[in-house]
Amino acid sequence: MVEVVAAVDVGGTRVKAALVDRDGREVESRTVPTVPGADVQGVLVDQVAGLVRDLEAGTRQPVALVACGVVVPGLVDGEAGVARWSANLGWRDLPVTAPLAALLDAPVALGHDVRAGLVAEARWGAARGASNVLFMPVGTGIAGALMLDGRVVVADGWAGELGHVVVEPDGPRCGCGAHGCLEAVASAAAVERAYAARSASAGGTRTGADRVAALVDAGDAVATQVWGVAVQALARAIVVTVTLTGVDRVLVGGGLAQSGETLLGPLRRAVEAQLTFQRVPTIERARLGERAGCLGAAALAWDLS
Ligand SMILES: [Zn+2]
Repeated sequence: MVEVVAAVDVGGTRVKAALVDRDGREVESRTVPTVPGADVQGVLVDQVAGLVRDLEAGTRQPVALVACGVVVPGLVDGEAGVARWSANLGWRDLPVTAPLAALLDAPVALGHDVRAGLVAEARWGAARGASNVLFMPVGTGIAGALMLDGRVVVADGWAGELGHVVVEPDGPRCGCGAHGCLEAVASAAAVERAYAARSASAGGTRTGADRVAALVDAGDAVATQVWGVAVQALARAIVVTVTLTGVDRVLVGGGLAQSGETLLGPLRRAVEAQLTFQRVPTIERARLGERAGCLGAAALAWDLS
């Protein structure tokens, strides 16, 4: 009998779930659409419990469920086991830990998706052995999680909102209401919008950030200009974080990081150019990709045992 934990990453559109062994290996996994009405009490925990039962039934070898970890976006109170608020999923003060533990008859841990992703990168990914880390997924939005002196910074759930640090006071309006937030300037969505706006006169259509990256590699002038704006903004946010916290490792994740050195090369140079006395951080791609949240949930669950 293999001991496993159930790990569940609840996103705005999809729920990723897996049974994970002690070494971070996924024994069995499923991805399903997030249940409608997840903001109504009981609906999400029913979906999660059903998924866990499906996973257990689907394994070839018998498994023993030790615990379950769930990660969600937004504001999370892990101690109370309550998902406090999510803009995407619409819930307020949704109890998770207690009702799910009752359904599964196993201990349950609740955490924040991005902070848990950093825990997973520290245990099984690109932050192994590091104590002072910034984990920055750059996708539709931009999130941040900090590890300082070996501990993930929580601050009652308010820490890490790097996407809403203002990098261009006169920049585009952000979903949060401010202008020129990092997320409004340098997310994959912002890069797509900026490229579409700049190439419109040439008959441009909606172009994905991955395509913009390919155009940068091909030497396209508009793509290069748009990319440069995003790189400078990301560098500014990294330099602020390095100066304030002393992190010496930066892990870039999310869709924009899939371009690899097209992003990381110029980003390293831009950061180094802005630093004066601060130590220079290594800037690498996060290693666990889309699985970071789910593996982070597994790490939280293993910590319960
Ligand atoms: Zn904002």
